[in-house]
Amino acid sequence: MAYMRYEIVAEAYRDMEQAAGRLALVDRMAALLAQTPAALLPTVCYLCQGLIAPEFAGVDLGLAEKLAVRAVAAAAAVGPEQVTAMLRETGDLGQAAEQLLAARGGRPASLQVAEVVGILHQIAAAEGPGSQGRKLDLLAGLLDRATPLEARYLLRLVTKGLRLGVGTPTILDSLALVYAGGRGARPVLERAYNICSDLGRVAAVLAEGGLAAVEGLHVQPGNPVRAMLAQRLSDGPEILAKLGGRCAAEYKYDGVRVQAHRTADGNIELFTRRLERVATQFPDVVELLREGLVPGEAIVEGEVVAFDPAAGELRPFQEVMFRRRKYGIAEAVRDVPVGLFCFELLYADGQDLTTLPYPERRAALAEAIAVSPRLRLTTATEVSSADGLEAAFEQAVTDGCEGLVCKSVSPASVYQAGARGWLWIKLKRDYRTELSDTVDLVVVGAFYGRGRRRGGYGALLLAAYDPAADVFPTVTRCGTGFSDADLAALPARLAPLARGERPARVYAWQEPDVWFEPGMVLEILSAELTLSPNYTAAWGQVKQDAGLAMRFPRFTGRWRDDKSPEDATTTTELIELYRTARRAQR
Ligand code: AMP
Repeated sequence: MAYMRYEIVAEAYRDMEQAAGRLALVDRMAALLAQTPAALLPTVCYLCQGLIAPEFAGVDLGLAEKLAVRAVAAAAAVGPEQVTAMLRETGDLGQAAEQLLAARGGRPASLQVAEVVGILHQIAAAEGPGSQGRKLDLLAGLLDRATPLEARYLLRLVTKGLRLGVGTPTILDSLALVYAGGRGARPVLERAYNICSDLGRVAAVLAEGGLAAVEGLHVQPGNPVRAMLAQRLSDGPEILAKLGGRCAAEYKYDGVRVQAHRTADGNIELFTRRLERVATQFPDVVELLREGLVPGEAIVEGEVVAFDPAAGELRPFQEVMFRRRKYGIAEAVRDVPVGLFCFELLYADGQDLTTLPYPERRAALAEAIAVSPRLRLTTATEVSSADGLEAAFEQAVTDGCEGLVCKSVSPASVYQAGARGWLWIKLKRDYRTELSDTVDLVVVGAFYGRGRRRGGYGALLLAAYDPAADVFPTVTRCGTGFSDADLAALPARLAPLARGERPARVYAWQEPDVWFEPGMVLEILSAELTLSPNYTAAWGQVKQDAGLAMRFPRFTGRWRDDKSPEDATTTTELIELYRTARRAQR
């Protein structure tokens, strides 16, 4: 049994919350990891991610704020209304608890990390009749023994507000510093994380066997592989040039991406891009795979699309989103039939296929799927000319798809887990026709409204993602396209992410009225990108002392809850959009 006081973690959280920039964050995180006994390293890594187990394990502390308020009241020996009042004042239950417990008289630090996490697991596991009372007792007991600072972070953790602004890349940098001799080792750690989605496991293997052991990790059914993503270009010939003159042009279906895992016990699990388990939401998809997936053990990826089998037609994205629900599943399955269009095979019966080139994976995929009307492979044609690509694009749109994903067929066309690289390039619409395209941006701030919008938010400050630096630079402010209902819902939706100071990973020149930890992604219609000294996206990359700014942005009404902030449009994509638009003007 390894010992480490939880206070050490809480103090590191406090310092990281106040860190002025990303380098300071990495250093403080590294100091924490260096202090952590090896046996507790996985646990502390999860805690830094705001979790108590890997994300895909789906461990849900299941604690409503109301219940947490009662636990704070019990520990601080005050009435729940006093906690609620303090919550209203501070806007954060963690701070409310900290202040109330300090008033009660501080306790000496006595909690152990292992013990805290053990109790949190018990809270998560409590189910059925009487479970709410049990969760309450467990949390109140924990808070009763916590120092005020510890209480602040315990509450953030159980109410899911713990976004320290430490992204996984930052934790990987810190691990590399402490255990692998420097940040140069991050790519190896990143690859391992991308194929197993379990930071604790990567840390444990690293601490035990060093970098070589981490390099030896393979994909494995049961551990979701982080999705490979596409870059974007708008011009057929350019895409072909980038892909070496030839590519596989696959239809781009507009649905929900799932990664299906069949483990040795025959069980089939479905993961979304955000690593949520959704097999219960899509029992029909599980059934399709049970029938049609040939290998006993496999990992296969595809797009679940609303599909009218009678007409043989694809249906719009909104319909498949109707299937993302907790209740009324049987009715939803009946009312909105779906199909699965498979495009990747990552593992089959003992073989890791991720390092094979695309043509070989695709051939293996064709063997692995017994197609049926609702279980198919994505339509793909190999093209080697601009005309061929154009024809494939037209056909895809005619058949109800968004466009194409053009995939490299070169010997180097491996599956790049977790990366948005140039092996896949999406072609969504004909940009040359001045139709604007959508981007997914992260809310990082808000400005209070005036006039009719008084009392709420009038506009949001939005950012793109820069994966190399793991920061969120701003690109625009947007107050258009929100319905009255959207506007009314914004403050509550954003409240858990609100911060008094600029979060360390947000990169901005202006000061909004409220800052937000990157967490919410919105789909935005962009009309025009320009150079601007006021926005930090792609700063200095197109022009010295200027970033990219989006003019006339408009919310499309699509809350991209299926995307994490790190899935937002990247600064590289913005540069590409900017260049394309400029070329079109000439
Ligand atoms: P985007 O979300 O715009 O970056 O587009 C990438 C997404 O397109 C992937 O994550 C998939 O969900 C989806 N997609 C649809 N059809 C395909 C396909 N044939 N190959 C790869 N991804 C596809």
